[in-house]
Amino acid sequence: MPATHTLAVDIGGTKLTLGVFRGEQLIERVSTPTDRSGGPQWMLNEIVRIASPWVRQYSIERCGIGFGGPVNSRTQQVICSTHVEGWLNFDLVAALKARLGVSSVMDRDTMVGALGEGFYGAGRGARPLFYMTISTGIGGGLLTDSGLYHGYDSFACEIGHHAVVPDGPECLCGARGCLERLCAGIWFERDYGQPASIKLRDPEFVKQYVRPLARGLKNCIMFLNPARIVIGGGISKAGDALFTPLREEMSRQIPAWSRATVDVVPAALADDSILWGALALANGRY
Ligand SMILES: [Zn+2]
Repeated sequence: MPATHTLAVDIGGTKLTLGVFRGEQLIERVSTPTDRSGGPQWMLNEIVRIASPWVRQYSIERCGIGFGGPVNSRTQQVICSTHVEGWLNFDLVAALKARLGVSSVMDRDTMVGALGEGFYGAGRGARPLFYMTISTGIGGGLLTDSGLYHGYDSFACEIGHHAVVPDGPECLCGARGCLERLCAGIWFERDYGQPASIKLRDPEFVKQYVRPLARGLKNCIMFLNPARIVIGGGISKAGDALFTPLREEMSRQIPAWSRATVDVVPAALADDSILWGALALANGRY
């Protein structure tokens, strides 16, 4: 029997990435910057433009999508996008079926990242697995032995918007001191005049930076007691320069009485955690 082909789509606030898997092998991959002013119509046109030749060439029938914003996993609709206008209740799955003739399954990108790392990356065999991304924003996903945990209406693990510094600086969401406000990439330029890739080379800066980050992760451990936390997104690429001080800070902050496992590692699939997760999603592993 010939291997099946799966289309994988990662819709982010800064870039759109598409790939084709033959079985469990990534054989095509294209990434392009997101035109934020274009909204869902631009995104839909780009996906169709890039994927149409693949759909014909490989007879693709299934697709997995990680969307960079809240998704109702039950109704399979985008709820909204916090970074791009026009996505309110957008039915992307139906639009792709109409334009490409392909059936899709969609989830929030951080949930899909949890699937990718959980089945193919740094979280293999670790359950419950908490996946967190630190890039433009911060988000999370929880993969348990019985699959993804979405919560009542799909907002579980939106860890970026819990306060880690009471009365801290105001976040885009309107609250103060959110984990995302203190640690996400979008704020580096505004707060420090330099991107994260430069700032995180300074050990003194990193010592300060990991304090609110460790607080957020400590809360995650206290609530969820995961077997492992995998951190993806651009900032996780800082490697040991970030993870060594982060682990030290976490052991300082986590109370001595707790015997909870503290296992925090970078993502293994680099920029493709969500593509690999989309493969799992499209093939019913969620
Ligand atoms: Zn917030």
